[in-house]
Amino acid sequence: MKLWEFTGHELLEKLAHQEITQEEILCALDKRREEVEPKVKAFVRIEKAPAPLDSPGPGAGFPGLPIAIKDNICIKNRPATCASRILEGFKPPYDATVIQKLKNAGFSIYGQTNMDEFAFGSSCENSCYFPTRNPWNLECVPGGSSGGSAAAVACGEAIWALGSDTGGSIRQPASFCGVVGLKPTYGRVSRYGLIAFASSLDQIGPFTRDIEDCSVLLKVIAGHDPKDSTSANLPVPDFLLSLGKDIKGIKIAVPKEYFSLSENMALEGITQEVNQAIGEAIEQLKKLGAKVQEVSLPHTEYAVSVYYILATAEASSNLARFDGVQYGLRAGAGSAEGADNLIQMYKRTRQAGFGSEAKRRIMLGTYVLSHGYYEAYYLRALKVRALIANDFANVFKDFDCIITPTSPTPAFKLGEKIQNPLAMYLSDIYTISINLAGLPALSIPCGFSSGGLPIGLQIIARSFDEEMLFRVAHCYEAHTSWHKMRPKI
Ligand code: GLN
Repeated sequence: MKLWEFTGHELLEKLAHQEITQEEILCALDKRREEVEPKVKAFVRIEKAPAPLDSPGPGAGFPGLPIAIKDNICIKNRPATCASRILEGFKPPYDATVIQKLKNAGFSIYGQTNMDEFAFGSSCENSCYFPTRNPWNLECVPGGSSGGSAAAVACGEAIWALGSDTGGSIRQPASFCGVVGLKPTYGRVSRYGLIAFASSLDQIGPFTRDIEDCSVLLKVIAGHDPKDSTSANLPVPDFLLSLGKDIKGIKIAVPKEYFSLSENMALEGITQEVNQAIGEAIEQLKKLGAKVQEVSLPHTEYAVSVYYILATAEASSNLARFDGVQYGLRAGAGSAEGADNLIQMYKRTRQAGFGSEAKRRIMLGTYVLSHGYYEAYYLRALKVRALIANDFANVFKDFDCIITPTSPTPAFKLGEKIQNPLAMYLSDIYTISINLAGLPALSIPCGFSSGGLPIGLQIIARSFDEEMLFRVAHCYEAHTSWHKMRPKI
């Protein structure tokens, strides 16, 4: 087995026993990257960092272990662009709280990964740099928006990585690339230093190759942060204690709007192969002692509409700050076609700096917030959001967790949906409601399509009950071997 194939916790053990050095790990990753990066293109930037950038404090638990970071999380004095031209040249003068925590724990920041511009998308094709490709099939997308982080972990260019999830951007790419991806409970992880897409939905979370790494990484990045007023002032449990437990008697709900428990009855839009893989995963969980029952989340059909009203409204407001004055690109100034006045400079900067999906969302968001439409769209969407959250709360009165497919299909081909934004929006149909309700959810590998593409199982739990996610997922993982498969690239 090559060094890049090991998980974070396995490498930590080897380091502790002095079987390997940090240098050897970095060399192995660099070598692996040289082999596969020209094909996969997961990174937008690699910092040549043979040693940890900031020396870890005494007792730091992760001596120099490298980690890849999505390009919308601020790292002091390094470019952060959200894969957008408008942030060209911007270098944050501070670390995001999660980066500070990683550095304190001894991690070394390895490189910054590709994404859809400002996290708008499900395929990584909306990047201003280049599309990332799926390591399992280079003609397919890795999912998005955190496609670079997912692909890097899947093909061994990174041991683990951070992404962000507003409507599925960690879980959907994790599912497409055959890795573990977690969206923590809203408020569990500080958003300070995460360049905002939709502030009431965004969460940072880990990509890993197994559940143990996921629980370890969440422990490092989670916790209350006075710099983020929405971060929860709650203790962070020792998630490792949730691992290795059985799931006898655990009550699992399967919402009929997401998946049909009756045999050979795939819901519309869900492929037969995804249907079968999820059905088999449910059988496996039953064998392990879980009690599975069908439930209803009656407002599911409104989730995509509600999300695209609220997320675009928040995005249009968050993106108003990019106007050529404080951050990144300033178009027109000082050039032959130099702007004559401030308004012209704003306009030229935003026209040149934003890609077409960003412009589409800014227009949609501005519209739903505008006078006369605010009540009809934005306010109404907020009310339906409360109904969706209430659906989940009702189910959690009687159940410990909910299981669904992560995505209705495995990875699709590059270019397949890029001309059709609505089709692209539907690829997050199973992940979006969870952000609207603020709940924690993860995706774990649970099978493959006949074309060799990974399929993901989504597990959802009550707010701040990530322990339940880890318990169920770890037990499933211990009895299956999907997470051990690696793409042949
Ligand atoms: N694909 C969804 C969107 O385009 C979700 C993106 C995300 O979670 N950042 O909005």
